Amino acid sequence: MRKTVSAIACLWLAACGSRGPDPGLAHHTALSRAEFNRWALRQNLGVYWVADANHDGQVQPDEVTSLLFFPVAGPWVEDGHFTARFEQAYAAMVEASRAAAGGGAPEDERQRLVGEDLDQGRSSLVQSDMSSLDERGKAFVDHMLHVASLVDTLYSTQAGAAALAARVPADDPASLSLFRRNWGPECVAPRTENNPACSAIPGAPKRVVDAYPAQLQADVGFCAQLDKRPDAAALLSPFTVVREQGGKLAAVSYAQAYEGPMKAIAAELDAATTSLDPAQEAPLIAYLHAAAASFRGNDWLAADEAWARMNATNSRWYVRAAPDETYWDPCARKAGFHLTFAQVDRGSLEWQAKLAPLQTEMEKRIAALAGAPYRARKVSFHLPDFIQVVVNAGNDRAPLGATVGESLPNWGPVANEGRGRTVAMTNFYRDEDSRAARRSQFASLFDATTMAGYSDDGQADLLDTILHEATHNLGPAHEYAVDGRKDGAVFGGPVASMLEELKARTGALYYLELLRQTGLVSDAQALNGYTYGVAWALGHIAQGMYTGTGRRKAYGNVAAIQVGMLIDAGALVRDAQAPAANGSDHGALSLRPGRVVAAVDDMMKKVAGIKARGDSAAAQALIARYVDSSEVVPHAIIAERMLREPRASFVYALRR
Ligand SMILES: [Zn+2]
Repeated sequence: MRKTVSAIACLWLAACGSRGPDPGLAHHTALSRAEFNRWALRQNLGVYWVADANHDGQVQPDEVTSLLFFPVAGPWVEDGHFTARFEQAYAAMVEASRAAAGGGAPEDERQRLVGEDLDQGRSSLVQSDMSSLDERGKAFVDHMLHVASLVDTLYSTQAGAAALAARVPADDPASLSLFRRNWGPECVAPRTENNPACSAIPGAPKRVVDAYPAQLQADVGFCAQLDKRPDAAALLSPFTVVREQGGKLAAVSYAQAYEGPMKAIAAELDAATTSLDPAQEAPLIAYLHAAAASFRGNDWLAADEAWARMNATNSRWYVRAAPDETYWDPCARKAGFHLTFAQVDRGSLEWQAKLAPLQTEMEKRIAALAGAPYRARKVSFHLPDFIQVVVNAGNDRAPLGATVGESLPNWGPVANEGRGRTVAMTNFYRDEDSRAARRSQFASLFDATTMAGYSDDGQADLLDTILHEATHNLGPAHEYAVDGRKDGAVFGGPVASMLEELKARTGALYYLELLRQTGLVSDAQALNGYTYGVAWALGHIAQGMYTGTGRRKAYGNVAAIQVGMLIDAGALVRDAQAPAANGSDHGALSLRPGRVVAAVDDMMKKVAGIKARGDSAAAQALIARYVDSSEVVPHAIIAERMLREPRASFVYALRR
């Protein structure tokens, strides 16, 4: 245990000059590890206490790391000692925490809410070890970090955050931190997102996305109006923005609208290839050049071809730099810019070999349940490559939580012909803090018997992700049309996205029995899988069904529909008297393993059938019963218990 008194700390707190050194400050014991990381976030400081390795309650130089994507990131340690900058940061954190504990300086309501929104995310570390890379490898990582920063700037423009950045009070670190984390001034955490006063900017100005003219967005129904126009297909195409030109609306290509930032990204992608060995990484080099060309010319489908030729065996890296997902867009049509930069985890190849022989059978089964007019297709899905994310940038870096599985691209021949890539991100939620928090959450809702089926060894969530992603390739998918109409036209964009996720999430449960029958998972592993699936759903129900601006949350809706259907089928029992596994809560959910297989078969029959027939009325009925009503799903109880623990808010660091 180090006992060195740090005189520097006294420079930052006036009080200690007269009363002698403040022991908490001097010994760095004033804040527990959880409080240290909480107040670092509140102060917008890129410092993280990784672990109290020697359990002495004292933060030490070898226990902290610098975080990426924060405005101030050290250096915190030099030659094994804390720097003056660290001492300054530490003193500021302690002062802020003491002010809050003592009722402190009068804060206005907005600032109080900002703190509450930040506190609902627990900084959870994603740390990648780059120390074994050679100089060239490290240079490649640096190029990718530069791409990440450029993509962040572009996405910030796209999402309408950049336009508001100057209005965040410069002397208010918590508001700056919220704006940085949330990609804009709005609050996003469950207890604060629906409070209009919660904002990083006084007056809570409305964020306007760059994808459509501001005036258009003043009307809440503008997406539906665009959808009805004869030129809707052009205006709502994914790689364009809508601009007003001469009094008319026109679709303008991303490469034209964002020419400067996109050319800068292209140049950096090209430059990154110089740090790769052509003998080892030829497919990645080809992709980076192709991606650079698409950032210049907006032809994303060409880059997709090069991208699809990469896999877990021919590259050690996973890189995707493109506009892809549409969840961020109020109309759910425009692709958001992102970078996923990850290392390939070879563990996927084992699952791939096990599941490949089953894919025809899997399609046959879902087609039989979906019924006419859907017919089983020849499917050739690739199972997810497992990746360990180094950094997520732009639309990828969510304020809270993280994407743990993704199938791309979303459009074009590579998607339509089943040649896309699916990945499972295996290094999120694996840190000790996240695992302990999840156990405590589920033990407040499950009874003891159900809790015994919950495992956090990482296997159940991995299999869940694999089956979820595999199911996106099965049954009625993106390109399926009923009477010539695709799902977006039949159900409307947000409901169509939700139903596709519902199918995939249902697949994660439904195919467990097939795997059990074929001996790929044991009875115990199958039970872990169902329990995990319900636990996953509880987590999303707690986050609410709609965003603060009234947009449908796809996963929240999916989760409520699944839990509701299990309850209606008697496979999940709500018992208001039963004690929860934690011994302190009353009223618990109990999974009935003997009923779950039949209930899940029935769930898949309903869900796949709705997509197969384009049955919008049946989809709306599910939403009415389980999403918009608490008659079956106890939304409020689930939220109250799950939200006692903050959500993971991932922060990134490199070990070099
Ligand atoms: Zn999905």
